[in-house]
Amino acid sequence: MSSQSSGLRHWRERFSALFQDHEIFIRTHGHVRFLRISAVWQKRVALIAGLVLFAWAGVTLAVFVNQLLTSGERAEVAAKQAATAASEARIAKYRDRVAEIAADLDERQGQLEEWKKDYFGDEPLPTDAKSAAAADAPADPAAKPLETSAIDPRLPPEAQALARLEARQEAFSAHLLAAVKGRAAKAEVAVAQLGLDPTALVRNAAAGRGGPFIPFRGRPGQADALGKSFAALEGALFRMEVLERTLVAIPSGQPAHVLMLSSSYGYRSDPFTGAGAMHAGLDFPGPLGTPILAAAPGRVTFVGQKSGYGNVVEVDHGQGILTRYAHLSGFTSRVGEQVAAGQQIAKMGSTGRSTGSHLHFEVRLNGVAVNPRRFLEAKADVLEVKADARQRVGALAAAAPARRGAR
Ligand SMILES: [Zn+2]
Repeated sequence: MSSQSSGLRHWRERFSALFQDHEIFIRTHGHVRFLRISAVWQKRVALIAGLVLFAWAGVTLAVFVNQLLTSGERAEVAAKQAATAASEARIAKYRDRVAEIAADLDERQGQLEEWKKDYFGDEPLPTDAKSAAAADAPADPAAKPLETSAIDPRLPPEAQALARLEARQEAFSAHLLAAVKGRAAKAEVAVAQLGLDPTALVRNAAAGRGGPFIPFRGRPGQADALGKSFAALEGALFRMEVLERTLVAIPSGQPAHVLMLSSSYGYRSDPFTGAGAMHAGLDFPGPLGTPILAAAPGRVTFVGQKSGYGNVVEVDHGQGILTRYAHLSGFTSRVGEQVAAGQQIAKMGSTGRSTGSHLHFEVRLNGVAVNPRRFLEAKADVLEVKADARQRVGALAAAAPARRGAR
């Protein structure tokens, strides 16, 4: 206590020592004046000066603090505004994305429904195709459903609902793909059993060869734009349709209800010259006027005379397949006419280089004569697949003009 009071006294003494009585001489115009400034006055002035300084410092500090606070508030308001703007932008982006996804899904749904209707009609897809799709999925990455994780989990509920819808759509697409592949596989086996190369047929068709082919509606590359699974589906549909249409186009119907000379295709001695010659067709001997029937559905492309063949009718079956009926005695069809399998197109005769009434029947694949025997001797199971395909392709052909008109 004593040390504290002595310390205080020490400071008071030091403070008092700063102020001592001063006497100042002031000379003005020859007069000398005495000015005495006492220590007490000095202390008072110093005190007032100190107070003023203190007050000024206080005001300055207050102003500074106020400014600090104001700028902080301003920054906070600016931050809030920025956050609101960002949130609005995000919501707008979500909304745009939702609208975009919805439009995309709508387009996909339209395409899926169209494919389903065109290729499977109103019948439900085979149920075994679903398990086949599941089993098939690992081997075919393109068939796997699209990743729906592209959609932000923080998205609004409507976007989540769209994601679920997309997943369901992908599942249906995979189901459809499996069904298409199943049908294509059947057609492929049948086509191969008829002696044709399925891979070459599809390749030729893809390259634009092989006669008229009505592909599914749509712009090229559209399926690509709809996603991997749609591109895979489109490819599978193309393959299925080529194989099925080829199957339908294969002339496996009897061109006349008479027995054929089964050994007549190939090299043999020419009945006129006796020299070895290629006989590019099958002969069907029978009575004059025997009805000649289209061996497959198609369009009559030639009715008239050809050197050596006499009276000839040719029918284009599409997929590069053409049948030629020769040595005819009469015609019952016109060029441009659409004919069904088994429909009469001509009458048997002996015109051209012929030794007697018979039908010369030729099948040409992309302009090259092939032995029609395998087609005519097609087994029941192959014919069953063919009949099935004919029904489907027929339904598709019937729907085609309307679709072409709509394009
Ligand atoms: Zn012949």
